[in-house]
Amino acid sequence: MAERIPEAFQKKITDRLRFYEDLGIRQFYRDRIAELRDSLPPVALSSLPDITEEMPLPKPVRKPELAKAALVAAAVAPKISPLPLPVAPKISPLPLPVAVGPSLFESMDKIANDTLLKIREDLGECTRCKLHGTRHTIVFGDGNPKAELVFVGEGPGADEDAQGLPFVGRAGKLLTQMIEAMGLQRKDVYICNVVKCRPPENRQPEEDEVSTCSPFLLRQIDAIAPKVIVCLGAVAAKTLLQTNRGISQFRGEWLEFRGRKLLATYHPAYLLRNPPAKSEVWKDLQKVMAVLGLEVKKGKSA
Ligand code: URA
Repeated sequence: MAERIPEAFQKKITDRLRFYEDLGIRQFYRDRIAELRDSLPPVALSSLPDITEEMPLPKPVRKPELAKAALVAAAVAPKISPLPLPVAPKISPLPLPVAVGPSLFESMDKIANDTLLKIREDLGECTRCKLHGTRHTIVFGDGNPKAELVFVGEGPGADEDAQGLPFVGRAGKLLTQMIEAMGLQRKDVYICNVVKCRPPENRQPEEDEVSTCSPFLLRQIDAIAPKVIVCLGAVAAKTLLQTNRGISQFRGEWLEFRGRKLLATYHPAYLLRNPPAKSEVWKDLQKVMAVLGLEVKKGKSA
């Protein structure tokens, strides 16, 4: 007789699947990386690359990586699905393919006809991570829903949490000056963050908070479909590029994110502490201006 799943567990699965549905994730895969590991003899296990090592930046080639969320769900899926799942091929104890972190972003499909309004509705009065307990206001994002340029910051601070708008504090004022120096206004661009709720004491968002919230950011970027994404600071860059490399190693370089041009630069809060770095950021923004066809005026500095 088929084993009955306890009701409480069934409810947990249902809630979890509903959450993924909200994020637009509807397909689940088996954790093939774990399967590959399990199928290796112990000697090969010791030669596995340390996945906490710095990872290379993703190449513009799309790899069949697993979604982070799907990894969690994969632990559940085989128990509730009577369908036979594809069996992972047996491999020899040769070096495994580089154990890159499963990229949620590479494997998340674009949602057809998605809009910022729908995403905001799906987000709701979010309680998905612990940040909801201390926030006052969700800071969803602000600006032109058809912007060619999207700025992605880290997370709201105290001013943003109070006003419900991104980058309105001291760092925000500097960002506004930078945008204006580019010949644009805030209403021309879109500004958002990796997490939508203020981390207490302005600490960096934690991994679980980033992985819970960033799928909404991904949907925002897909819905806006900008020409250029500018990551402000290491948290945004590391999140979108799924890398542990320090931002100074790739700051100012053109990279790719889901077929769009991405450039990472220093966070305005860093510039407040370290004003000489402004000239580096201005060089980066001039690159962005060139791609957007904005006139780079000689001698003008942010
Ligand atoms: N810093 C950020 O990263 N985002 C904001 O919205 C404000 C400050």
